Amino acid sequence: MTASQPPPLEAVAGDITTQRVDAVVNAANTSLLGGGGVDGAIHRAAGPSLLAECQELRRTRYPAGLPVGEAVATGAGDLPCRWVIHTVGPNRRAGQTDPAMLASCFESSLREAVRVGARSVAFPAISAGIYGWDIEEVARMAVDTVGGSDLLDHLSTVRFVLFGREALAAFESRL
Ligand code: ADP
Repeated sequence: MTASQPPPLEAVAGDITTQRVDAVVNAANTSLLGGGGVDGAIHRAAGPSLLAECQELRRTRYPAGLPVGEAVATGAGDLPCRWVIHTVGPNRRAGQTDPAMLASCFESSLREAVRVGARSVAFPAISAGIYGWDIEEVARMAVDTVGGSDLLDHLSTVRFVLFGREALAAFESRL
């Protein structure tokens, strides 16, 4: 079904693991097997079934891991949502400095969310933590990519869930 109007983008301070939306996006790493930051929080809150699904994805579709900029959906275990969309942001600290890769994370996550049937999606500030991107640049790529996507017509809610005042302010000013 197509919404009559694309939804306004929202930015809130909070913990993405408590969001009551259809799908939350995980700033995962290539291994898909969990990590620190938002990835660790999502795996802890979702419980072991999420890791089992990710291990199965590694065994089947992604033996070499999920490439940077791509996205894949799993179930959400004990989280209050239906799907987790895993995407791998570029790691600036490892020399991955191409903003197009960051834009690709937001675009491919949105596409995967719509593909599985989600109508509401929450994103974290992908690559703004351990992967070392400036929060202003992440906000710019996130808001411009998601805000400019044709896929918005399929959604009723798109929410950026930010940790900390600085991250919230960066997104709010870009919105
Ligand atoms: P990356 O490895 O892609 O940089 P991180 O998880 O280290 O991912 O950080 C991405 C952003 O998510 C950072 O701004 C971090 O503060 C934030 N973050 C960490 N935990 C949570 C959470 N539970 N909910 C929302 N945002 C979170």
